[in-house]
Amino acid sequence: MERMQQVVGRARAAFRSGRSRPLEFRMQQLKALERMVQEKEKEILAALKADLNKSGPNAYSHEILGVLGELALTMEKLPSWAAPQAVKKNLLTMRDEAYIGYEPLGVVLVIGAWNYPFVLVMQPLIGAIAAGNAVVVKPSEVSENTARLVAELLPQYLDKDLYAVITGGVPETTELLTQRFDHILYTGSSAVGRTVMAAAAKHLTPVTLELGGKSPCYIDKDCDLAVACRRITWGKYMNCGQTCIAPDYILCDPSIQSKVVENIKATLKEFYGEDVKSSPDYGKIVNQRHFKRILGLLEGQKIAYGGETDEASCFIAPTILMDVSPESKVMEEEIFGPVLPIVTVRSVDEAIEFINLREKPLALYVFSNKKQLIRRVIAETSSGGMTANDVIMHSVVPALPFGGVGHSGMGAYHGRFSFETFSHRRACLIKDLRWEVLNKLRYPPGSMEKMNL
Ligand code: NAD
Repeated sequence: MERMQQVVGRARAAFRSGRSRPLEFRMQQLKALERMVQEKEKEILAALKADLNKSGPNAYSHEILGVLGELALTMEKLPSWAAPQAVKKNLLTMRDEAYIGYEPLGVVLVIGAWNYPFVLVMQPLIGAIAAGNAVVVKPSEVSENTARLVAELLPQYLDKDLYAVITGGVPETTELLTQRFDHILYTGSSAVGRTVMAAAAKHLTPVTLELGGKSPCYIDKDCDLAVACRRITWGKYMNCGQTCIAPDYILCDPSIQSKVVENIKATLKEFYGEDVKSSPDYGKIVNQRHFKRILGLLEGQKIAYGGETDEASCFIAPTILMDVSPESKVMEEEIFGPVLPIVTVRSVDEAIEFINLREKPLALYVFSNKKQLIRRVIAETSSGGMTANDVIMHSVVPALPFGGVGHSGMGAYHGRFSFETFSHRRACLIKDLRWEVLNKLRYPPGSMEKMNL
């Protein structure tokens, strides 16, 4: 407990010193972070390989390029994001200065998840530094190699007191959460999201919760199935299905179900070859606990493809399930693994109803040649974000906010939205001490009568 108090206390004292506020300082810290990613690329990739068997271009584009891209955007745009925003004035304020000023919140806590262990702590950290805060970072203990590396590297490049790293699991995080923060950004499951929010409520600390859920993918009969299935296969099986916005399940007409299976099968061979296990692009299930959990979801299901497993190496082959009952276990919880159930629906109306009967998902996907059908699905459902005729891609458009809604989370970040999440929008009015004649209108006695004149 004392250690947590000390770390948070040091971060608060450093924040109070005021040194994190000037734009030049923020830029310099972001530049140092960029240097860290460039100089330590090999170490970062090695940690990702050890934690998730991520390698090659996959690991590089997801975890390194994403962070470098966010840094470049933030450094380019920060001066304009942080500039005071003048607002419209009225008769009473026409001679004054009225604007929105962006100020840092104070000490921010960032709690990361294991599935993209580097980018999920770095991206919020970038936004929090850009907004002028002190930050305590708590990477996931499940991806222990990346957590250790982040704890080792950050103090080598950044201000040690302003930006601290705490490693550890549930006991450490529970203790950390008793401390007072000015904002918490949590990435992880909805269940733990509740615990984080309850702990934050004790201090009236605002939270951004980046949670998960079952993201549906509706395929219209009238669309190019080969293209649709190639894109779905890419997003579903990358990182072995352990992606928060991966399409969780497919909804389609019974008449195209077999064709969907055939197309995904063909794409899997194209992507990972005949021996998926030896493909450098496939990855592995993070640990035995998750391996067993995913295996449990296969019980009693009709496996249309895949299903091979190897406990020793936490391997589960890309798997497709057909004719899945909406009441089955695999349709209750987020799969977070390389298992893709297909549930058949007779129409887009049924698909919309199916989606709306469940918790609001983090992402929603629809494939169709008809723009009207796409717009209808958008208008009649809700989700954190959505992409039509592709998957995942809305999350890499820097100008779009990334976040959930309802049970998939609250608040959003990425790019400008990160800066705003970690800033307070302060209403500022600077009046002139002259022009008292105008102000007399509102002073007693008889201010109302004077106004009516
Ligand atoms: P996890 O086990 O790494 O947990 C996330 C963090 O919560 C870790 O830092 C962990 O130490 C902490 N934690 C775990 N239990 C805790 C407790 N009882 N009290 C306090 N802290 C605790 O990750 P996970 O929860 O298995 O992550 C998977 C979930 O995260 C999925 O639902 C996935 O969809 C979601 N996710 C969401 C996003 C997003 O951006 N919205 C990104 C990645 C993952």
